[in-house]
Amino acid sequence: MKKILMVTSETVPFAKTGGLAEVVTELSLQLKSLGYDIRIFMPRYYHIDRASLKKRDEALGIWLGKGEEWAAVYEGTLPDSDIPVYFLDHERFFGRDGIYGHRPDEGFLDNAARFALLSRGCFQLCRMLHWIPDVLHCHDWTAAPACYLLKKEEQYREFSGTKSVLTIHNLGYQGVFALSDAIYIQPETDHISLSTLEFNGALNFLKSGIMTADKITTVSPFYAEEIKSPEQGFGLDGLLNYRREDLKGILNGIDYSIWNPELDTVIAPDNFSESNIKNKAAVKKRLQKEMGLTVDTQIPVVGLISRLVEQKGVGELCGPGYGALYSICYDFNVQFIILGTGEKWCEDELNKLSSELPNLVFWSGYNSDLAHLIEAGSDFFLMPSKYEPCGLNQMYSLAYGTLPIVRHTGGLADTVENYDQQQASGTGFVFYDMYPEVLYNVLDWVVDTWENRKPHINKMRKRAMKERFTWEQSALEYVKVYSEDSE
Ligand code: ADP
Repeated sequence: MKKILMVTSETVPFAKTGGLAEVVTELSLQLKSLGYDIRIFMPRYYHIDRASLKKRDEALGIWLGKGEEWAAVYEGTLPDSDIPVYFLDHERFFGRDGIYGHRPDEGFLDNAARFALLSRGCFQLCRMLHWIPDVLHCHDWTAAPACYLLKKEEQYREFSGTKSVLTIHNLGYQGVFALSDAIYIQPETDHISLSTLEFNGALNFLKSGIMTADKITTVSPFYAEEIKSPEQGFGLDGLLNYRREDLKGILNGIDYSIWNPELDTVIAPDNFSESNIKNKAAVKKRLQKEMGLTVDTQIPVVGLISRLVEQKGVGELCGPGYGALYSICYDFNVQFIILGTGEKWCEDELNKLSSELPNLVFWSGYNSDLAHLIEAGSDFFLMPSKYEPCGLNQMYSLAYGTLPIVRHTGGLADTVENYDQQQASGTGFVFYDMYPEVLYNVLDWVVDTWENRKPHINKMRKRAMKERFTWEQSALEYVKVYSEDSE
């Protein structure tokens, strides 16, 4: 039976800031059902209650360049499964609120040391367990140095038969630190290999993984192509081109037991389905009412749920003085509901706009139930992302017959088929350029379609609700990667 260790900074339900956390959990559950011996290694952040976990007797001694750090290991399982999750417990590095920083846009100053400890700690964990994985599956920059350490050092020890896979969930986050921090991931037995670690005069954790992983995956086929271009490569496109034979895009799935209008408890008793969609109007009314909007099913509702960061196109949408949102809400008979948290300027601007515009509601914060209600009750769902490695919300939207309005990038391009007015085909509205005027024009097109071609909307809804992006399909693709020989 193949043994796989996931090394990650996030796993649902223990820690989540984005799609990565869901991928690790869902993929692990699928691999388990395919017969793999799958285990997960992640930090024990402060908010993860030790009382629900079991402390291992032995501690891990982890070399960290300047000396050895001692860390405890707590053990739990993924809910409703027997998949072990090992938590790295280190008071100085993880005994504080926050995963990467106090706010999404501010990293902790000692992040290099914190995640070097995770990357190094995975090997010590395996030794402690007397369990050597066939595949070390490392996620994002926070675990990328483990691929480097495997290649430079550990493969000459017990890990000679272990291969590494690096999954890039978002190339925009690379773990860039001062070069002096390289000491934390310097192999004990080797010199620092600066050509593998350094990029533009700084230490780059992700680069260390891209240079050394046996296989590299990212979370959609289109994104795998885009990151090889200077526009989307964040400086690493040359390296990714160099590794192109070993780079593959695998689309994430979604959990249709949670994101399913037939089963969703948040919208009960107004559940609906592709063959019985009439209750969607009842959910829409409920959403309008709860958000304090005019209750009128004739007015199209556009939802948006997102981290409010540049990547998501919030500048073009609501940048002070130039964003398109004010004109859209002012000129068109449309309602906008935005749920999100993120950069302060953006939250301030959305608060300001929503106080000026009666048809715009901004709900600041993280709210899972409201996310379900918005997905189910909206008519359209906007994702004007500059780049989107995979994106989950457009897939949720399709499942609820809420037509996505997306920029043609990453997983959005792989999952949303553009509306063709002649054929009345498609599952959403796709635009290409990223300017406020383009956002304005696409909303004009959407509202025009809503007002003048309702039968097309109804047809697209049905087609959207039939789409399926399952974790079963994704897991089988990962299994192929685990089984391929590397160069
Ligand atoms: P990313 O991982 O880049 O943030 P994704 O679309 O891949 O974007 O995944 C984001 C996930 O987080 C989705 O499940 C989305 O619904 C959820 N989400 C984001 N912001 C919020 C929020 N404020 N409240 C509830 N859920 C949110």
